Amino acid sequence: MSGSRPITLIPGDGIGPEVTAAACAIVEAAGVAVTWDVQPAGLAAQQATGQALGAAVFESIGRTGVALKGPTGTPFGTPYRIEVGPHAMCPETTPRVYPSVAIALRKEFDLYMNLRPIRSFPTVPSRYRDVDLLIFRENSEDLYLGRERMVDADTAEAVKVITRGATERAARFACELMTKLGRKRLAIAHKSNVLKMTDGLFLRAAQGVAAGYPDIEVRDRVIDALCMELVLAPERYDCLLLANLYGDIVSDLCAGLVGGLGLAPGANIGERCAIFEAVHGTAPDIAGRDIANPMAMILSAVMMLRHLGELDAANRIEQALTSVLQRHDRLTPDLGGSGGTRAMAAAIIEAL
Ligand code: ATP
Repeated sequence: MSGSRPITLIPGDGIGPEVTAAACAIVEAAGVAVTWDVQPAGLAAQQATGQALGAAVFESIGRTGVALKGPTGTPFGTPYRIEVGPHAMCPETTPRVYPSVAIALRKEFDLYMNLRPIRSFPTVPSRYRDVDLLIFRENSEDLYLGRERMVDADTAEAVKVITRGATERAARFACELMTKLGRKRLAIAHKSNVLKMTDGLFLRAAQGVAAGYPDIEVRDRVIDALCMELVLAPERYDCLLLANLYGDIVSDLCAGLVGGLGLAPGANIGERCAIFEAVHGTAPDIAGRDIANPMAMILSAVMMLRHLGELDAANRIEQALTSVLQRHDRLTPDLGGSGGTRAMAAAIIEAL
């Protein structure tokens, strides 16, 4: 790659600024020439500028095509809507309304696939070894459209939307990537015994696509049974394809299998742009204390580097990170260590 690669950086809220700072320093230490275009978004941005997600963020990602994003806060309990007006990617003047910054970005950039690899690290304390899961989460519809309403003071309802087109697109992405990576077993999660139309359509549409990939062994699992089997014997599973909400919940469950949310990276991928962000949220309970595990964000940056074709830097960062996992004095407390976010990042940079 010639010149410096522009990448949008959204530090986000809570532990976001700490873990993104660690990831950025490590990418730079690996020798990748990057110009970070820093774009505030989330609750802190809202307090500072009055806007949680301004047009500048869209202009930046539209231009760079790639973003590394820290978690952005969504308050619990209070009505909270993100309003997105005209911007570089969409001149539509009627504001679009979303339940969170993350969902707004995914929808506006049509980032239809949320890819979340979850794997065991030998030295990280956990009840399981040999977990190696690849979660394909449909990222554009389902209950995440945020179409909720109060029918009356005591009745609320939400609309679950599943379309053949979005499901087939997600299934095709999953099967293509599995073929590329040589991964063979796909489990499609659903609850079609109850949600016969929505989950029934998801299952049939995904099965229809997967049938075109004879090298992939496909099975379907009812979501509740899948959760139990993942907890009993996660090593029996390889790749999972899920609708949006199930994908979100199962991602956290799977992160717990390998040692917690601090270890689970992710990518939101569309045709034109990709945004890389950890599975975890803002973790306000540990924010600003230099104890957040930066691994999930660093591994998200590794996914980003692979997406950009920087394979050598990605592999070296992963190796450096794995070697540091034996250094208890440099690890964050969730990994059983006595170090902190900055000490861990510094150790990875030394190992590089
Ligand atoms: P949000 O509302 O933004 O989703 P949250 O605190 O409800 O935030 P998460 O941030 O996903 O949800 O995390 C749940 C808990 O897991 C946190 O409170 C924290 O204790 C732990 N946790 C999450 N991320 C990390 C991390 N990177 N390092 C260490 N612990 C973490």
